[in-house]
Amino acid sequence: MDAVSFIHKIRTEFKKRSEQEVVMLSCSALGILYLPPFIIYRIINEDWSMAVIDSLVFLIMVLFFRFNYMKGSILSTRLTMSAFLMIACMAVVYLKGISSIFWYFPAVIVVYYLLKPIHAVLISLSSAVTLSFILYSSLESIVFASILVPCILMNLILYITFNSYAKIEKQLTKLVTIDSLTGVRNRRSLTQELANIVMSQRRIFFNISLIMFDLDNFKKINDEHGHVIGDEVLIHIAKIFSLNIRASDSLFRYGGEEFVILLPDVNLPEAFTVSENLRKLVAASTLPSGITATVSMGVAQQLKAETAVEWLKRADAALYKAKQNGRDQVVISQ
Ligand code: GH3
Ligand code: MG
Ligand code: MG
Repeated sequence: MDAVSFIHKIRTEFKKRSEQEVVMLSCSALGILYLPPFIIYRIINEDWSMAVIDSLVFLIMVLFFRFNYMKGSILSTRLTMSAFLMIACMAVVYLKGISSIFWYFPAVIVVYYLLKPIHAVLISLSSAVTLSFILYSSLESIVFASILVPCILMNLILYITFNSYAKIEKQLTKLVTIDSLTGVRNRRSLTQELANIVMSQRRIFFNISLIMFDLDNFKKINDEHGHVIGDEVLIHIAKIFSLNIRASDSLFRYGGEEFVILLPDVNLPEAFTVSENLRKLVAASTLPSGITATVSMGVAQQLKAETAVEWLKRADAALYKAKQNGRDQVVISQ
């Protein structure tokens, strides 16, 4: 493989991954690339303790890279990597003294990037305290203070900044994934969720069913009562479903008056029973302005090696059949 196609392969691989995974892979790759010259330098100078530490850091970076590459950016990896970075900083300062304190600063920034601000501040401040114990006896008070105070200040600034980013990110995620009328997850969120499910199904296959439902004759409700009441009906219907599904199930507004429910660990007969109960519940409910409504439902359990589009299509076809058969009923896709 030539250099150009190798770079192209890496770029395609990175594009498939989340931002955080890319940063974690890049950080560990950087560690893998810059550490060998240091290890050789330590060995030449017979600095055996540092050679051992650098070699350990190198080995762990290789393991992190491999783990991130295979499993993605999971919390346990991020926590371990953060704890490990801090321990490595402390070990280097312990062995090499004050001249190595500068490793603490980039390491702390990585920790804030990897963890929630509250976890990051706890880990990096306790490391700062440990570092001060290590350095206390060897430094004059003024030098000691001029190191410790910037460490604490940097942590406070990073905490405030990353906390504010986390809040903005939360608001943006809400804007992008939540339907503004009903407050349930939107179609974009469903697409993402289905992609995740299809990916994990390839590793370990599990039962998962999908219900697609649509309000019957909703246009008539709008025509007779107006759009505002129509909106209230939609909100009320979404509420009925949200309150009557399990915590592990998820409800999405697919579009207009059409919704989707994902039922993990539920097979087709069980999904049929759930759908029937929900359908009866809607039919028995009184909606705003005394309106009564019914829903038609199509149910499909995901088949092995089935794509999200194929799965949705089967549920949609079953829903279409339910409409054709006279509405207010559930049809399953075999
Ligand atoms: P069917 O039983 O075949 O599903 O008939 P229907 O009348 O429910 O279906 P149709 O597709 O003819 O009409 C759907 C209506 O839903 C038309 C559209 O104006 C209305 N609608 C879609 N989104 C909204 C919304 O956010 N608010 C309100 N009030 N109405 C909406
Ligand atoms: Mg409809
Ligand atoms: Mg419709």
